[in-house]
This record gives sequence, C-alpha cells and structure tokens, in this order.
Amino acid sequence: MIPLNEPVHFLLVDDLEGNLISLEALLRRDGLVLLKARSGDEALELLLRYDVALALIDVRMPGLDGFELAELMRGAERTRRVPIMFVTAGDADRQRRFRGYEAGAVDFIQKPIEPDILRSKAEVFFELYRQRQQIAGHRDALKANSHALKEADRRKDEFLATLAHELRNPLAPLRHGLDILRRSPDSAEAAEIRDIMDRQLNHLVRLIDDLLDVSRVSQGKIELRRQTIAAADVIRSALEASRPMIDSAGHSLQIDVPEQPIWLDADPTRLAQVVGNLLNNAVKYTPQGGRISISLRRVGGEAVIAVSDTGLGIPRDKQAEVFQLFAQVDHHLDRARGGLGIGLALVKQLVTMHGGTVEAYSAGPGEGSTFTARLPLAARPAAEAPVPEASTTPASVSRSLKVLVVDDNEAVAQTVGWMLEAIGHDYRLVYDGRSALEAAQDYRPDAILLDIGLPGMDGYEVCRALRQMEAFRKTTIIAQTGWGQERDKVLASEAGFDHHIVKPVGLDKLEQLLAEIDTLKRR
Ligand code: ADP
Repeated sequence: MIPLNEPVHFLLVDDLEGNLISLEALLRRDGLVLLKARSGDEALELLLRYDVALALIDVRMPGLDGFELAELMRGAERTRRVPIMFVTAGDADRQRRFRGYEAGAVDFIQKPIEPDILRSKAEVFFELYRQRQQIAGHRDALKANSHALKEADRRKDEFLATLAHELRNPLAPLRHGLDILRRSPDSAEAAEIRDIMDRQLNHLVRLIDDLLDVSRVSQGKIELRRQTIAAADVIRSALEASRPMIDSAGHSLQIDVPEQPIWLDADPTRLAQVVGNLLNNAVKYTPQGGRISISLRRVGGEAVIAVSDTGLGIPRDKQAEVFQLFAQVDHHLDRARGGLGIGLALVKQLVTMHGGTVEAYSAGPGEGSTFTARLPLAARPAAEAPVPEASTTPASVSRSLKVLVVDDNEAVAQTVGWMLEAIGHDYRLVYDGRSALEAAQDYRPDAILLDIGLPGMDGYEVCRALRQMEAFRKTTIIAQTGWGQERDKVLASEAGFDHHIVKPVGLDKLEQLLAEIDTLKRR
C-alpha cells in the first residue's frame, strides 16, 4: 500500500549539473521530491530505490544516452510504466522523435524550456500519481474489508453451527428425562431426573441470556445501574448461583475475602454476572474433583477479584484471544462442556464498562487458569455509602390472588397456570387479546400476565384498552414476553404495564413477584 502522505518522486536525468539545478528550481513544489541523476547508470540506481511518477531525461548524454536508458526502463517490470519526457536541444528530427516514442516517451520538451508549459505538464503527472496512490489506498482498504467480511462470515457460520449444537445439547436430557418421567413418574430416579432437567434448562436460559446480552452491550444498549456496593456481596451472590455446579462437579472451593469492606461504584447484577461467568468457566474447564478459589483484595485504587482453578489451563498464545467473541480454545472443544464462546467476551465488555480490566493467566495446558478482574474503587468513602437495597426474599403469600394468563402459546399458558396453582393462586387462561378483555371483565383478576406477541390485538393494545376501563386502572398488569431488550421494557411501560418479565419465568420468581404485588396492594 502507498500511504497518501508519501511524497511524489520525479527523476531528473542530465549530465550537466547546471541543467539539473535549473530544472529543479522550475519544478520545486510541496509534496514533490526531485531525484537528480547525472548519468543513465545513476538514474537506474535511483529507479531501483524509488517509485517515480515522471522521468525527465536528457537525450544526449555520454555513456548511456537518453533513449538507451528509456529502453532499459521499458525492459524492467519495475520501471516499465514510468512516464518519460525527453528533453532535447534544438529541433529533434522526425526519426529521432520516433525512436524516442518507441522507447516509451510520452512527450518531448524542447530546449530552451518554456517554464509554464513544463510546469503544467509536470503537474498532470504529479496529480495522476496522487490519484493512483488514492486508488491503491482504496483498493487496499477494500481488500482489507473483504478479508474482514469473509472472516466474519466464517465465524458466523461456525457460530451458528456451535449455537445449534449447544442449544440441542441441553434438549436431549430434557427430552429423555421427560419421557422417563412420563412412563414412570414415581421411579426411584425421578428426583434426580428432575434435578438434571432443571440444570439443563438453566443452562439453556443462560446461553440465551448471554447471547442477547453480548449483542446488547456491543450495541451500547446496556446501561449500568451503578450504586455503592461491597465487592464481597457481589462475590457472595455469584457464589450462591454457582455453588450447585461447583458441588456437583466435586470441586473444593476456597474463598479468600477480607473482612474490611471494599466499596465499588458498580452495577451489582452485572458484576455478579461477571464473577458468575468466571466461576462457571472454572467449573467447566476443570476435571471432576479439582480446586477452585476466589479471592478479593484491595491493591492501590483497585479491587482485584481473582478466580483460579486447577483445570485444563490455556496455552500462552491464546490467553488474550479467549476474550474475543466466539473464541474457544480448540482442544477444549470436547463439546460436552457446553458454551458458545461468548461468556468471556461479555465479561470483558462488562468489566470495561465499569472502567476496569480483566486478564487471563495460565502457566500452560494442564496447569490451571487464573482470571483477574481489576475494578476501580468507589470514589465515595464507605461511610457515605447508601444503605444497601432491602433484600428481595419473597414475602410469604398469605392470600390467593386471581391471575388472568394471556398467551397464544397454549403450552406456556397452561404451565404458567399450573405454576400459579402450585403456589396457591387462582387462575384463568385465555389465548388471544379480545378474549382477554372479555375474561378480565368477567373474572376481575388481581393481576394479569399478558404476552406481547398475540395474534390480532397485541399485548400493548390489550393493556392500553384495559387501562381505559375504570375497573382496570389499578390492576397489576405484567408483560410476560420473549422480548427482553431495554426498548421493549420502555414500550411496555408506555403501554401501561406495571412489570416486564422475560420468558421463561421460574416458579420462584413468579412467587416472589406475586407476593410483592400482594404486599403492595395491602399497604
Ligand atoms: P465458552 O466457555 O462458552 O466456550 P467463554 O467465552 O466463556 O466461552 O470462554 C472462551 C474460551 O476460553 C473457552 O471455550 C475455553 O477454551 C477458554 N476458557 C475460559 N475459561 C477457562 C478456564 N477457567 N480454564 C481453561 N480455559 C478456559
């Protein structure tokens, strides 16, 4: 590639120093370098070193004359296309001119030289060369783009294959488990089968959540909800979620967290997601019965959280790469571990959004790995830190609520209905918007679980219509949907929804939400 700010070179060839000096004085301008050769041989040497936009060659020179030099230039690939202007004294006869053109001349300049004419001719070649530089620049950029596109396309194909594979993986045990439970619901393994199904389902949900998050973060759609929090609390909540996985893999766990609180100005949910991802990886990439440790330290102005394992380790040359989207270390791909290569990309994005850094270290394959996240400490002293938010453990439900469930997916509606029944609520199911409006008037629910993507009248319209009716101004309406982007939440709230929850909703979450609604209603 020829960089655009590179100077343009002209070659001036004349055996008389005086001629060279006057040509130089005549042509001098910004961005132009004039190379002076006093003989044909010197000119050839310069041509080897420089790309030349124009050669101004004196015809009559001792040794190699101008025509011979031009012929040599035509014969070499490197100099074949260099435009040549011959400078001749007196009238060149037709035959000489012909020889000159044959040797590759584009023009003849007569001595005495007319300065303006030479300058404007030279200008044409200067500009032509600049344009060639630009075209070459564009061509290189296009090449690079096309290479990047091909690479992205390849990664996308690979990703889709992995995605299909990884989504299918948890489906198999779900299918099998369900079939077994259907045949023999009370078999000795029933409880174990349910645990397996539960874990696989959580795994599926996490894959999809990560997938959505990583694209939302890269599009700048995630906003951090920062508050002053103790780093240890983040670790605690991540451990709570990862503990079952750590235990079931038979790993020992070492926790090293100082008593003195270390305050961060951070989004607790997102940071717990970061630590959770690191812990899950430590579990996944460590063979059964390994050792996992997590530590928190304060180093200078930073909180340093390190998650180490005694597992597969990472080759040195891959340690920076693992944070790239879809990057997976080849020999870890025994697929059973399940993953899409997005967890660490998400970790890095989230840590960066917090103004921190994260890095991987491993002494090599089989030597275990350590992931270290460094986060800036909160600017405010701990004493000024706000009281942490009240715990969100479910208040006990003492009242049965009437819940209207609206979903065009009958299986979803029915299973939500059963969940409501299991936690002591009454329910009614409908499968489209219009029936929802009718059922609401007839049933008078305390809460409505309303799907958004309904045929005909969608969930937003149903919600708006309900809010128009006096009887439903204050009824709790919850959007229950597969669309979990920030924009969807805003739309839901504008349409009059009180809550927005993303499918699938677990029983605990549903119970907690309804308990909170009940508590609020009774205040
Ligand atoms: P996934 O685990 O879904 O493949 P991640 O982005 O979480 O994707 O990790 C990217 C890759 O980094 C993994 O595929 C694995 O090869 C490597 N890796 C991550 N954590 C560890 C770890 N604790 N030990 C060894 N390798 C790891």
